[in-house]
Amino acid sequence: MRRPLIAGNWKMFKTVREAIGFAEELRNVVKDVAGVEIVVAPPFTALHAVADAVRNSNVGVGAQDLYWEAEGAFTGEVSPGMIKEAGADYAIVGHSERRRLFGETDASVNRKTRAAIAAGLTPIVCVGETLEERERAETLGVLDRQIDAGLEGIPAGQAAGLAVAYEPVWAIGTGRHATPAQAAEAHAHVRARLRQRFGADVAARCRVIYGGSVKPENVRDLLASADVDGALVGGASLDVPSFAAIVMAARPAAL
Ligand code: PEP
Repeated sequence: MRRPLIAGNWKMFKTVREAIGFAEELRNVVKDVAGVEIVVAPPFTALHAVADAVRNSNVGVGAQDLYWEAEGAFTGEVSPGMIKEAGADYAIVGHSERRRLFGETDASVNRKTRAAIAAGLTPIVCVGETLEERERAETLGVLDRQIDAGLEGIPAGQAAGLAVAYEPVWAIGTGRHATPAQAAEAHAHVRARLRQRFGADVAARCRVIYGGSVKPENVRDLLASADVDGALVGGASLDVPSFAAIVMAARPAAL
């Protein structure tokens, strides 16, 4: 009943020209794909151009981050309204690179998630444990903390549309992905926590997607679990054939 979501996080890659070329090629390659929500998240500089390039296609656009205020003296920040007006419908929030390198906290993730929802953006809220936390058997506790704090104060009525990305930090950009069993356990746990917070109906509608070294070769196994509703893809989303192959593998008929 949940439509799989495949989102490409381009991180700090692609100039505007490169981004437009990618978007035009991708929309052509995936034009007949049905049953999968396809999103690309370019750098802010290319957001508007990519949104233009995929207009009237089955490819959506997301920002990689946002700030929670509508406007003001916040040098370097971009507001939810600006992102929406640029043509995006999604925003990644709390990516582990932002948490680790730029001081993002559960509290800022919460403010950003609420601001995204208020602006009509679909937040893709990232959670996930570090290797040390996994080795100390703290994974499920970390997920609970990040979900509780990150989604605090969001009414159940607004929660059904959001997506949670389970991204074990040790799997991001490392080539080492979670095993399907590890992903299945974490995703079932995230869904159970969403159920506690928002009720069974909302939890059944939220997408919980996996991120961490997803490639065309491993995506099928990772998506096989009932609670894995798609993927947040970094490195393999930078190349049209590999991103398109991941999209194809997520088609309901392909699973
Ligand atoms: C990411 O950036 O969210 C990610 C999962 O990266 P990669 O696929 O490269 O591990």
